[in-house]
Amino acid sequence: MEEILKSIAAEIVRQDDWGKTAQYIPELASVDPQQFGISVCLADGRLISAGAATKPFSVQSITKVFALVAALGRVGDQLWSRVGREPSGNSFDSVVLLERELGRPRNPYVNAGAIVTTDALLSGREPKMALAEILGLIRHMSESDSIYINETVAASEQETGARNKALAYYLKSHGNLNSDPELTLGTYFHQCAIEMTTDQLAMAGRSLAGLKGAPKVISRQRARRVNALMMTCGHYDGSGDFAFRVGLPGKSGVGGGILAIAPNVASIAIWSPGLNLYGNSHAGTRAAEMLSNATKWSVF
Ligand code: GLU
Repeated sequence: MEEILKSIAAEIVRQDDWGKTAQYIPELASVDPQQFGISVCLADGRLISAGAATKPFSVQSITKVFALVAALGRVGDQLWSRVGREPSGNSFDSVVLLERELGRPRNPYVNAGAIVTTDALLSGREPKMALAEILGLIRHMSESDSIYINETVAASEQETGARNKALAYYLKSHGNLNSDPELTLGTYFHQCAIEMTTDQLAMAGRSLAGLKGAPKVISRQRARRVNALMMTCGHYDGSGDFAFRVGLPGKSGVGGGILAIAPNVASIAIWSPGLNLYGNSHAGTRAAEMLSNATKWSVF
């Protein structure tokens, strides 16, 4: 595994096209796109990494997976009355389907669905309580207390997040947001601004992969469902392409991170900030494909 990761990192570093960082969040736009890190936690408990695996980056939408785990723990399957389980085939911040489907987002991994999930976690509490729950869960799953929220990134998104604000108010108009939209949005932006290294993220994925020694935060049946949604919806309108090329449940974030799960075998975290047209890490997707080819971990 060490050799595989080293050779993937070496190949990525040689590439010409690194993609483009997320331009709509100024703090992310200014990150150097030519960075790469990869970490793998194996079933025997080993953590193996290559590249910039100890550099914190903005995990952004990958937190939607942890928020979903927390919300399911809090409200259980009732959550599915407010958010669906189908791929959207649309971009992560699309408003189109929400209008057609009367304010019930397609799935918990598009922005509208994640805003509903965060709202379910908020449920009348102070935003800092909901954030403490998400951050506490992530710290517990990764066995790392140093994980934090980058306030500058949260403020940057708050300033430019007009589309997410539109989504939240639209959800409210359909009665699918319980809290004040500004409170839910503030919680959502702060949740997205959590920073982790690929080492920490790979550790956090162990419970979803069902690896021995992972903190027991979710039942196997629920983990299978969370993973199924990662496979079908985790890369937005690039989910089909990710399944085709990598064949593993995966969740991307516009910070350039990817969490991929090889059930019962490994938890994988990859980071490279340059994105492709779908808003998923360009080099990260290439690296995930190389890893899947080398290990034959595709579930298909
Ligand atoms: N905070 C980002 C947004 O809401 C998350 C999107 C992503 O990571 O895909 O636009």
